[in-house]
Amino acid sequence: MQSADTPITPLIAGNWKMNRLPSEAQAWLRDLLARLEADADRGSRSELLLCVPFTHLAGMSELAFGTPVGIGAQDVSRHEAGAYTGEVSAPMLADLGVRYVIVGHSERREYHAEDDATVNAKAQRALAHGLTPIVCVGERQAERDAGRAVEVVLGQLAGALEGLEPGSAERLVVAYEPVWAIGTGRTPTQDQIAEVHAFLRDRLRTALPEAAEGIRLLYGGSVKPENAAEIFAIADVDGALVGGASLKAADFTRIIAALDG
Ligand code: PEP
Repeated sequence: MQSADTPITPLIAGNWKMNRLPSEAQAWLRDLLARLEADADRGSRSELLLCVPFTHLAGMSELAFGTPVGIGAQDVSRHEAGAYTGEVSAPMLADLGVRYVIVGHSERREYHAEDDATVNAKAQRALAHGLTPIVCVGERQAERDAGRAVEVVLGQLAGALEGLEPGSAERLVVAYEPVWAIGTGRTPTQDQIAEVHAFLRDRLRTALPEAAEGIRLLYGGSVKPENAAEIFAIADVDGALVGGASLKAADFTRIIAALDG
């Protein structure tokens, strides 16, 4: 997993997408916390995060306070404040104590026409308010078939990094999520993941030489308890962004345990 001598704290982040009611979520979180407590003697070395819908953030942040689980958002407005009906701003998230936000998830890119400039604006806005953006990049099936996976992913990364202040960019997290692997049960081979992560790390070294080794590179796309250990063993994989399996506390706990070996 480790790419350099610098110790990196892995991050395992769940992405609930638009699932679970706020009233169900708190019981779910208590269940997860009980499972983690039962495993406490093994002591996870990862940072744990659940990215939940906006409606869940206040209640879950309160319940998670002081526990090993952080609560993050799944999106943020590119704007600071004003007449943007339906949007939620970075200062609003920060005011709730939220520290992480996913930006550029492929579902946002696809269903809400978010381009690299939008992803960049959101990442900048998040960083300006002390939030850590988890920037998602990933190729579509046709792009991989055309041999363009690395080119597409590096293009998205370059778009996200444009104009970021080196000082704040060191907080960045990047998630490689091939679109064709999200929610499909299909995963890239270990070599395919290793190749993309090596290119991402290399590009970070060029763009942000001071910060590159500390930026966590997550893999996301059909991570399950059954494949987590082999994914976490790949060089330059510093954790995971987990969709479907993060909705089941038992599966999520097994994924966390897989990283600790
Ligand atoms: C995701 O949506 O970020 C994701 C990785 O989903 P899944 O794990 O369900 O493929």
